[in-house]
Amino acid sequence: MPRNYDIAELRRLDVAHHLPAQADWKEIENLGGSRIITHAEGCYIHDGDGNRILDGMAGLWCVNVGYGREELVEVAAEQMRELPFYNTFFKTATPPTVLLADKIASLSNGRLPHVFFNSSGSEANDTVFRLVRRYWELKGEPKRQIFISRWNAYHGSTVAGVSLGGMKAMHATPGLPIPGIEHVRQPYWFNEGRDMDEEAFGTLCAQAIEERILEVGPENVAAFIGEPIQGAGGVIIPPKNYWPQVEAICRKHGILLICDEVITGFGRTGKMWGHETVGVSPDIMPMAKGLSSGYLPISATAVSAEIIEVMKTGGDFVHGFTYSGHPVSAAVALRNIEIIQREGLVEKTGNETGPYLAKALATLNDHPLVGQTRSVGLLGAVEIVADKATGARFGGAEGTAGPIVRDLCIANGLMVRGIRDSIVMCPPLVISTAQIDELVGIIRQALDEAVPRLR
Ligand code: PLP
Repeated sequence: MPRNYDIAELRRLDVAHHLPAQADWKEIENLGGSRIITHAEGCYIHDGDGNRILDGMAGLWCVNVGYGREELVEVAAEQMRELPFYNTFFKTATPPTVLLADKIASLSNGRLPHVFFNSSGSEANDTVFRLVRRYWELKGEPKRQIFISRWNAYHGSTVAGVSLGGMKAMHATPGLPIPGIEHVRQPYWFNEGRDMDEEAFGTLCAQAIEERILEVGPENVAAFIGEPIQGAGGVIIPPKNYWPQVEAICRKHGILLICDEVITGFGRTGKMWGHETVGVSPDIMPMAKGLSSGYLPISATAVSAEIIEVMKTGGDFVHGFTYSGHPVSAAVALRNIEIIQREGLVEKTGNETGPYLAKALATLNDHPLVGQTRSVGLLGAVEIVADKATGARFGGAEGTAGPIVRDLCIANGLMVRGIRDSIVMCPPLVISTAQIDELVGIIRQALDEAVPRLR
């Protein structure tokens, strides 16, 4: 059972001292502090006001195996007793770190046999950034330094991560994005291509990448980076023909292909990796979140043999973190992957709960506020519109309806995220079909309650 906290005092201290992530601190002050989440089990979180909330976001796209896994607690305690920390700087490694690298290599079917550890998805992408630029330098093509990314992509919050990402609001800090990163259009059919056939739009978006490559000169381009399915951008599922064309363009111009699997890895899309779902094979794959189901911070950057062979010609790669390969995080990640495999969570998502979520979401299509529902595996979105025929948004611009519906979902017992006017979801992979019904039922109720507020 949870401890008996003084919630009012915690909220007071939250306002006085704590600066929450990606937040408007004045708004939180006006609200009298953050919602305090005290404990959780399975697919439900509990807050300090006694609310039990279905966690439609798996924490922050990460608690794939659900809450309350005693064996993860035990494996962490065991590892902490044996060796709570050691680094990988001194020509040293620890057993869980090496075993986890081997495990990740085997999960990529040996195509990405080398693994560098970090603590967060952002750091995994910082590693990508430095590794790729160093690789081209060592390979004798030092001009290849430019990364191509997409507007509205999310690759993290560090200086390199946020620059690789394409969120304009996050670039609104002086000096960002850093130079050497080119952003091209995203494959967001519902918002940007509805006057076109989906496949034609997919081709147009892939062509935008090639056009930019030709514009800046292929000899200057190092890599293309993309999330197989954009997560934080609003669960944007590209047209089926988009990614294979992107891969062909990268191969044609000798550019590295990087799939950011921070959200899409570890079964989220119904296959182990999002790149399998979209049908491409990357040279580098950053991952985090589902790697440990969020029980401890850990991320990894998996890399092809070809790239590491070149890196080995360059002496030290002077990059790394105190917590690279943290033994406790690695031990937890190893056991977490064991749970995912033992319980068949990838297959369950691909064959059972993913298709069930898609069907359940589709029942919302008759709602007057719903412009589109979409999902892949257990990653889904509902587009809220003022006019179903034209896709026009409430208030004339995006971002009016989303927060209203999101808040109504939370008030009705479902944690989801409102990204502009999309309600997005990413529940734990252990969610049952009955819980999916609950999730979709609450969204319908929230939509119903939103109608009088919006019209
Ligand atoms: N890359 C992707 C695709 C993400 O979705 C995220 C976080 O949501 C990140 C990178 C950054 O991860 P972190 O917040 O652990 O730094």
